[in-house]
Amino acid sequence: MTLNSDVPLDFCPQPTTDGAALRSAERVGTVLRHALDHGLLGTSQPVAAFLDIDGIRASVASLQAAFATVPEVLHTFAAKAASLVPVLRLLAGLGMGCEVASPGELRLARDAGFAPSRIVLDSPAKTREEIAEALALGIALNADNLDELDRIDTLRPADCASVIGLRVNPQVGGGTIGAMSTATATSKFGVALRDAGGRDRVVQAFVRRPWLTRLHAHVGSQGCPLELIAEGIAETYRLAEEINATVGRQQITSLDIGGGLPVNFTDDDVRPTFDDYTRALRAAVPGLFEGRYALVTEFGRSLLAKNGFIAARVEYAKQSGGRRIAVTHAGAQTATRTVLMPGSWPLRVGAFDAEGRPRTGPTEAQDIAGPCCFAGDIVAEGRDLPVLAEGDWVVLYDTGAYYFSTPWAYNSLPRPAVHGYTADGGAVRLAPVRDAQTLDEIAAESGARHTDRLLALTPSGPATTR
Ligand SMILES: *Cc1c(COP(=O)(O)O)cnc(C)c1O
Repeated sequence: MTLNSDVPLDFCPQPTTDGAALRSAERVGTVLRHALDHGLLGTSQPVAAFLDIDGIRASVASLQAAFATVPEVLHTFAAKAASLVPVLRLLAGLGMGCEVASPGELRLARDAGFAPSRIVLDSPAKTREEIAEALALGIALNADNLDELDRIDTLRPADCASVIGLRVNPQVGGGTIGAMSTATATSKFGVALRDAGGRDRVVQAFVRRPWLTRLHAHVGSQGCPLELIAEGIAETYRLAEEINATVGRQQITSLDIGGGLPVNFTDDDVRPTFDDYTRALRAAVPGLFEGRYALVTEFGRSLLAKNGFIAARVEYAKQSGGRRIAVTHAGAQTATRTVLMPGSWPLRVGAFDAEGRPRTGPTEAQDIAGPCCFAGDIVAEGRDLPVLAEGDWVVLYDTGAYYFSTPWAYNSLPRPAVHGYTADGGAVRLAPVRDAQTLDEIAAESGARHTDRLLALTPSGPATTR
């Protein structure tokens, strides 16, 4: 396993000349000490996650400001980036809508209080039942392909309130992370525009369906350059113009431009910013901001990633083959992508002592390992950090999106608790977002209700039951 050792990812929360890094480490240290004092972290709570609520408000405000000149815009939050009901409720209160891609995410969005008209359903595998439910509720929906449009033809009620769109794949290419690139030639998402006849089939699909009023493109996520995303949206915009010209009226009234603004995981800087993004969009598609089309956005990672961290206790500090290894309680169960794809998803690690003070002292290359029983459960390899000891705390920065909110049940490790905090003015206040999973809950999710059922399953036993 290699972690780009030439990239300066190492993060020591000691006094440094980097003002921003110091601010972040100080703020996190303050929250860490508060959580230790209040028993939210300790020997029996060896891992927990924290969300910066001041930071989330600021991120949403910067998104809204970047698009402020667009007359009609609905910013939806991609629920998969932080599938936590209190977070979705907070975002609803800040004026956002919600992008969902499964019955589970739809349920969370509705529990959080989003009005159906502010929910957008995207998924490449919607069942007929899911489509019918969304259309009955008036939830906006983006069909992934032309067969899905055929289903909608038969399922759409006469008085349907849903805005219905079609997702296209502008096939402009991929970014640095293949798994995050949705506009490659062979992507599984949307209708491929550059395939032979693809563009014409899309135009005809709109000609035949006067109720089809939106085009959707989500070009990619982490690793995609802004210019690539902007080019995909420009292609989608040109298609909308072509369709409207063909039908001779403005049938397409809105464009859903997806999310995908990448996040800088190497230091405290927010870059690119939402302003950088709208600048790139303006350059590639000047007409996009003129108000002819209402806009929908679907950002996830860029709103939440830098507003969250995981804190985990160092249970043992050991050595093997001359390598120092800190065995902590944060591994693949809560930093799944980083552990499984360390080259693509490196995280900054902070070192704090048992009282939550930034660890000082000589640094040494150390592996930061997790609790999972496979050798690759390492969140940072050979990282230069102050030497860690049992009882210290490590912090995984920038994990507010797609990390603790999307845990992996490996080794039946519990989902860690999530707390929201505000720390403006120095005083820390905390509120629960999600409780840590209990052993009873783990057993229930692991089929405990059916404990004896396999014993009775024999060729001569009772007939199939559920
Ligand atoms: C995942 C996803 C998003 C959010 O992507 P981010 O990179 O988190 O902004 C938006 N739209 C669709 C369709 C997605 O699949």
